[in-house]
Amino acid sequence: MIRRKKNITLEFKCTRCSLCCREKGYVLFSKSDIERASKYLNLTKEVFAKKYLDYSEAYGFYIEVKDSRGCILLDDDNNCIIQNAKPEKCSSFPYWDEYTDSDGNLSRKKFDRPCPGIYEKK
Ligand code: SF4
Ligand code: SF4
Repeated sequence: MIRRKKNITLEFKCTRCSLCCREKGYVLFSKSDIERASKYLNLTKEVFAKKYLDYSEAYGFYIEVKDSRGCILLDDDNNCIIQNAKPEKCSSFPYWDEYTDSDGNLSRKKFDRPCPGIYEKK
């Protein structure tokens, strides 16, 4: 995705705090997300899905984060066990359509998550 550097008011640098992995919600996995993650863990797609994912007609494959213990792919050291092969929704956070303006920049008006990696441009 091209991020144009125009009218930027908010900047982002991930602190790896994992707060976003602990907010209640759903982490969706597309076919390519599953392929990448399973390869990264040296598992077959089937074993990866069976071990970590749920499935529904509405969502497809997903992980439900039910409470502040967070996503089941977080390890004891607070790291994602598929850090270099995260699903697209995780790796593109916080530059999601709902948080960005028409130039692809983070919007102060739209971004409402408790992320310490977001800061005002100086
Ligand atoms: S909450 Fe923000 S700073 Fe913390 S891990 Fe998530 S993206 Fe990075
Ligand atoms: S897959 Fe990794 S980055 Fe995404 S929510 Fe789970 S632990 Fe966090």
